[in-house]
Amino acid sequence: MRLIIKNGSVVTPAGVQEVDILCDDGRIAALLERNLSVDADETLDAAGAYVFPGFIDPHVHSRDPGLTEKEDFAHSTLGALAGGVTTIIEMPNAVPPVDSVDMLHQRREQHEQVAWVDFGLWGISLGEANLHQLAPMLEAGAAAVKIFWGYALRRDTKQLVYNLDDEPVENLLMPPGNGVVLQIFKEVASVGGVLAAHCEDRDILSVSERALGHPVETYDDLLHARPDTAESTSIAIAAEFSRATGCRFHVVHMASARGVETVRGARRRGIPVTAETCPQYLTLTEDDYARVGPVMKVYPPIRKQEDQDALWAAINDGTIVSIGSDHAPHTVEEKARGFATQPAGAVGCETFGPVMTDALFRDKTTVQRFAEVMSTATAKLYGLYPRKGVIQPGSDADLTIVDPAATRTVRNEDLVAKQPVSPWNGFELAGLPTAVVLRGEIAMRNGKPVGGHRGRYVRAQHGSAPSA
Ligand SMILES: [Zn+2]
Repeated sequence: MRLIIKNGSVVTPAGVQEVDILCDDGRIAALLERNLSVDADETLDAAGAYVFPGFIDPHVHSRDPGLTEKEDFAHSTLGALAGGVTTIIEMPNAVPPVDSVDMLHQRREQHEQVAWVDFGLWGISLGEANLHQLAPMLEAGAAAVKIFWGYALRRDTKQLVYNLDDEPVENLLMPPGNGVVLQIFKEVASVGGVLAAHCEDRDILSVSERALGHPVETYDDLLHARPDTAESTSIAIAAEFSRATGCRFHVVHMASARGVETVRGARRRGIPVTAETCPQYLTLTEDDYARVGPVMKVYPPIRKQEDQDALWAAINDGTIVSIGSDHAPHTVEEKARGFATQPAGAVGCETFGPVMTDALFRDKTTVQRFAEVMSTATAKLYGLYPRKGVIQPGSDADLTIVDPAATRTVRNEDLVAKQPVSPWNGFELAGLPTAVVLRGEIAMRNGKPVGGHRGRYVRAQHGSAPSA
C-alpha cells in the first residue's frame, strides 16, 4: 500500500517544509519535492493544512477492564482517533491494575482486540507489594511507571481510594511512606525508565480540607482544599529523590505556577525532572466555573489565570515537555451530582487534539513547539521514538492533518465517549485535525473513522532513547 500526502505544510525536525510525503507499507518512505510524479495507490490532498507527526496522548484512563460502565478501550481509542490522535498510552489503574509482567501481557492482548489507534501501556507501582515487578515491566515494554502518590488502595481490587473515610481501615493498603518511595525511584532508575506521579501532597490536602470546616461547596472551597503548595511540595520531594537516584521523574497533569517554578528550579540544577500538563489547565480557569459548572471538577484543580499563563510559558521554554488529556471518565449520572459529591475527572481524549489546535491558532505557541509537546518529545520520553513522533524516512507513517480554517462547536451529543460529558460542551473551536494517517493508511476524515479498528500495541524501549 503506497499513499502520498500532497500539498501540505509538513512539520519536521528541520522546520516546516513544503513537501509531499510518500508512505509505503506503513512507514514514511520519502519526503518529496512538490509535484514529482510518483506511483501511489491513494492520494490525500492536504492543501492549506499542516501535516504534524501523529498526536500522542500519553494520559488516558479507559477504565477497562473493571469499570466499563464509565468507559472502555474501544470508545476511548475511537474518540482519540476522531480527535486526531494516532497513539495513546493507557494508564494502569483499571481493575485489576497493570502491576506485573503477566498483567501487562494480558492487558496488551485484551486491548489489541478493539484498539482504533496504536497504544502503549503504563505499569503501576503499588508500593512494597510489587517493588520487584517495576524493572521487569519496563524491560517488557511498559512505557513508564505511575505511582498514585499518597493514595490508599483497596486490598481486594487494588482500586484507588480517594476518601479514606469511605472504607474500613482493614480493607485498605495504606500509601507507602517516603522510604519506600525512594526505593521505587531506585528500581525504575536501574533500567533507565521513567517514573511519574500524581503530585499533590496527601497530608497537605487532608489538613487543608479539614481547615475549611465544611464540605467543598464552591469553586473557591476546592482551591482552598487543594492548594498549589500541595503540588509544589510533592514535586520538590520527588526532585530530591530523582537527584539522589538518577531516576527520570515526570510530573503528570501539572496545574500550578508553583509547580512550574519547582520543576524549572530542579531542571536548572541538572536533575532529570520533566512535566506534563493538560488541555483543561491550558484553556480553562476558575472563571470558567460559572459557565462550565461542576463537571469542571478535576484533580488537581483548574486554577487561576496566572497559573495558566505560567503553564504556557513552561511549554514555550521547555519545562513542560508533553501534553496529555488525562481522559478520566465517569458516568453521566455521577457527573450530574453536586459539586461536593461528584467524582473528579472528565472525558478528554477526543477533544485533546481539537482543543489544543484551537489554542495553537490563538498563538499560544509555535507550530514547531506544538509538534514537540503533542508528539515528538512525548515519544522520546516514553521510549517510542523514532518509530513514533517524527516525520522522517523509516518512521511509522502516523500523521495528523490540521486545517487552520476548519471550525466546530463541541457538543456532548456528538461525542464518541461512552459517557459524553465534556467541560468544553458548547465551546467554539477553530483550526482542527481533519484527517489522520495511521501506519500509512487513512484512518480518519472529518472526525469520522475510515476502515476498521487496526490499532496495535507499541512496545517501549528505555535507556537508549535521547532524553526529552
Ligand atoms: Zn490521570
